Amino acid sequence: MIPLKVILLGPPGAGKGTQAARLSDALGIPRVSSGDLFRDHQRRNTEMGQLARSYMGRGVLVPDDVTIRMVMDWIDREAGSGGFLLDGFPRTEAQAATLDAAMEESGGIDKAIYIKVSKDELVTRLSDRLVCTDCQMPHSGRDPDTAGSCTRCGGKLYQREDDKPEAVEKRIQVYMEETAPLVEHYREAGILEEVEGERSVEEVGRDLTALISLT
Ligand code: ADP
Ligand code: ZN
Repeated sequence: MIPLKVILLGPPGAGKGTQAARLSDALGIPRVSSGDLFRDHQRRNTEMGQLARSYMGRGVLVPDDVTIRMVMDWIDREAGSGGFLLDGFPRTEAQAATLDAAMEESGGIDKAIYIKVSKDELVTRLSDRLVCTDCQMPHSGRDPDTAGSCTRCGGKLYQREDDKPEAVEKRIQVYMEETAPLVEHYREAGILEEVEGERSVEEVGRDLTALISLT
């Protein structure tokens, strides 16, 4: 299979993390979430983790220099020639410009997939979201299949600090201001695909798999 470089775009709660986990399992493409990398640094209490905590707790973005270094290191280390699936990066014009430049030599990003969801739905989803301690896959707190454990790996589920109501509003606002413009950035680059995100995980997943398989 040809290595694919895919970005998942969309507001917090759109389903990027859920779909990234499923696509990575189905297609064997390495995936990364910048938020997960930061949370891992926090668990290990590294310097970067401590720095990131102060921003993430408030629902604002971690500064570009730190974020870019961390994600580009991950790409060098883990993605190699196998392609990748990025969830949560890029989130600013500067991050997108750095990624575009770094990928230019290997043919550029193949697709940026924008998962669309209305604001009301985002607030509902984020406030009842539980995340797996082990594989980070998100779950709905109302999902009867979970009973406190991850449906993917059996790990324990917990509520993220920034899924509390005060931070949720702020994250959506930050998304609108800083990240939403990237939809146009990738449309202009001719690699944007849009997917209606207010459907079941399976339906959205089918569309994404089809889009990626067509690449
Ligand atoms: P969500 O997509 O649900 O907001 P993430 O786990 O992707 O969750 O992000 C959580 C937080 O981590 C963000 O609010 C931000 O503080 C930080 N973060 C994640 N990715 C980036 C990024 N690319 N640039 C800056 N900050 C980021
Ligand atoms: Zn899990």
